[in-house]
Amino acid sequence: QSKETKWMMDAHLLLQKFYHHLLLNTKEGQEAYDYLSGREFTDDMMKKFGIGYALNSWDFALKFLTKRGYSQKLLEKAGLLIEKEHTAEYFDRFRDRIMFPIHDHKGNVIAFSGRVLGKGEPKYLNSPETALFNKSKILYNFHQARPHIRKQEQVILFEGFADVIAADRAGLHHAIATMGTSLTEDQARIIRRHVESVIICYDGDNAGIEAAYRAAKILIEQDCYVRVALMPDKLDPDDYIRKKGPESFKQDVIGASLTFMAFKLQYLRRGRNLKDEGEKIRYIEDVLKEISLLTKAVERDHYLRQLADEFSISLDALKQQQFQVYKSLN
Ligand code: ATP
Ligand code: MN
Ligand code: MN
Ligand code: MN
Repeated sequence: QSKETKWMMDAHLLLQKFYHHLLLNTKEGQEAYDYLSGREFTDDMMKKFGIGYALNSWDFALKFLTKRGYSQKLLEKAGLLIEKEHTAEYFDRFRDRIMFPIHDHKGNVIAFSGRVLGKGEPKYLNSPETALFNKSKILYNFHQARPHIRKQEQVILFEGFADVIAADRAGLHHAIATMGTSLTEDQARIIRRHVESVIICYDGDNAGIEAAYRAAKILIEQDCYVRVALMPDKLDPDDYIRKKGPESFKQDVIGASLTFMAFKLQYLRRGRNLKDEGEKIRYIEDVLKEISLLTKAVERDHYLRQLADEFSISLDALKQQQFQVYKSLN
């Protein structure tokens, strides 16, 4: 670890502590505090996740940190300041935002994500890639979740900060998130080093379902055992927990998670009217293709029977056709 990265981490930690203080204890932070309270963030959650508030100022972080000896150039490298085009004049990257610190897996603050209060664009503003922060290798909350992941022999993967924090409050401490970008191979490898069993719990909108599908494939390639928890009514996990409560979330969402194959069957149904002959037959063909990719004969048999039952097709006919599909794929 170079001296420069050490300085950058120290600067992040100092700033994080001050943002946190502003949120919890000051008049300037009151509106942000009220916004979070309105979303049922408790003081305990704000503390556990180190949440803060960046003042509506162009030079608060600049002054706060340069006074403590950090150079503007270093702070720009750390992603905390932005340089006005080639002027050697700098200003704060984060202004008037709720600040979520992002930690590395040892627990050092290495970046921030700032959320607007209420509506506005961009909803979340992230630190850029820096010497400290390699987005494709960081998983949100991994440092706090790690011992729980080991103990539970399972991890729950979410899309966003709010989802992880809501899940943690619901008693699910083995919760991490990808922060909106798609899961990378590096992140999947990091997960697999700690645990085999992963439950993906992404948002219930189309983007979330597509992203869950991609994440599942990446995790399976790394030899994870994957289940997918589906969110009803396009809710996200944080919305769900607030609307229906933690018990329902644990039982009806996490407890009802699907195997990857069952999820794929649901996935293939999307937007299809299975009452239409043509669409039904295309669906069955797609399912047969998926079944052909299964390596275990017992599993193939299980899903063929399920398909035969659901559509009242003879098992023989399905088996014949599946064999044709299998041959065409190999
Ligand atoms: P909230 O509940 O606060 O509205 P969310 O987590 O539900 O936020 P989503 O829109 O579902 O937000 O996005 C999921 C995640 O994607 C966010 O937690 C954030 O990490 C990331 N994200 C969302 N919008 C942006 C953006 N404009 N720029 C960068 N990252 C973003
Ligand atoms: Mn989303
Ligand atoms: Mn969401
Ligand atoms: Mn949300």
